[in-house]
Amino acid sequence: MPEDKKDCCSFCGRPAKTAGPLITSPTGAAICRDCVGICEGMFGGEERKGPQEGRMNSAAAGFIRTLKVPKPAEIKAELDKYVIGQENAKKTLAVAVYNHYRRLQSRADAGDTDPEVEIEKSNVLLIGPTGSGKTLIARTLARMLNVPFCITDATTLTEAGYVGEDVENIILRLVQAADYDVDRAQLGIIYVDEIDKIAKKGENMSITRDVSGEGVQQALLKILEGTVSNVPPKGGRKHPQQEYLHVDTSNILFICGGAFVGLDKIVQRRFGHHVLGFGQDREEAAGPLVSDDDVTPSEALAATEPEDFVRFGLIPEFVGRLPVVTALEPLSKDDLLKILVEPKNAVTRQYAKLLAMENVKLTFEKEALERLADLASRKGTGARGLRSLIEKVMSGIMFSIPSEKDVTECIITENTVNGGEPELIRGSK
Ligand code: ADP
Repeated sequence: MPEDKKDCCSFCGRPAKTAGPLITSPTGAAICRDCVGICEGMFGGEERKGPQEGRMNSAAAGFIRTLKVPKPAEIKAELDKYVIGQENAKKTLAVAVYNHYRRLQSRADAGDTDPEVEIEKSNVLLIGPTGSGKTLIARTLARMLNVPFCITDATTLTEAGYVGEDVENIILRLVQAADYDVDRAQLGIIYVDEIDKIAKKGENMSITRDVSGEGVQQALLKILEGTVSNVPPKGGRKHPQQEYLHVDTSNILFICGGAFVGLDKIVQRRFGHHVLGFGQDREEAAGPLVSDDDVTPSEALAATEPEDFVRFGLIPEFVGRLPVVTALEPLSKDDLLKILVEPKNAVTRQYAKLLAMENVKLTFEKEALERLADLASRKGTGARGLRSLIEKVMSGIMFSIPSEKDVTECIITENTVNGGEPELIRGSK
């Protein structure tokens, strides 16, 4: 290469002095930043713009066509195998999920050119106390449909620019769950837990910015309603030099869950106002004539209206993007008892399977199960408490039994649950 061309861009010919730093190849060719920009426009322009919102490419359409969507009654029947109680929630979700995927299928069949088929997403909001089965329902649905699924937590999110996770990271989780198959991820389900924790704080609580409240709701709103999200493939914060995965969120089903502590009071107050509102005759008062005391917390939650969520601290646009709302009941002692034995993967069945591998039969006496349900019910953490309680009871047994040669049966009694020893039946195996 002639000496005078050495420090020049091989494309525009400008020297490094005016063109800025050059990238050189081993063969001596060099290119400046502006020429890279032009190349990018020529080759990568279309790709870089990413997919258009709501458009389903042929791979995604192919995937959705092969998806076998069970009827709502079949979905509910499958949920029944794993989730005890929560009849309303199971029915509502079965219908919501069925409609969601049927709409996508009709869209895939209609192709991108059919302006008649307008897909409105029906994202779901689950209200219910901790450990009542919100995550379990979402997870069971995704498994049944065989679509990518991930669980994320709204409390880890912050507005872009603050310490914490960008909302794009929740999309990344789904992409990871789909083994980086973006087309499949775009048709998946995301469960966003603790959605109530990003409610706006009261007006006068702080003069600083509400980093974890309204800003996060705004950011989540975008992906909930459908946008082409730029997802950093390795996670973390976004930065300008990064390559992004372009993920269209318009066909992703979002199921948001939260305990919404205090929401029942807001609803009860609204009911109360119908009675107490002055300037109105009782006959004129809108709604049923009930006082706060007539409405139980569960009934109040079941009667939640969008305005109640707004009063709770969610912005109206956000509430509008979660059109399907359903409340889960707190689990009774009876439900907890059933949860111990009835679900397909009930925790007692899991331990029985483990011990069966040691040729030992595991039996729980009725009183023992009742005691466990009673203890869990008092803890107030729903079915979450059951697992830790039973683990405490079983840990010693799981330690010693594999070394016992002649134990054929292990019986868990009420006394065992209270800290005593299990009854062991010995014999030849
Ligand atoms: P949350 O409502 O807080 O999301 P989870 O769905 O995570 O609660 O429940 C925690 C665990 O408790 C589940 O993994 C499941 O084993 C059990 N569980 C909770 N609710 C139910 C239910 N209704 N039926 C069966 N198991 C349940």
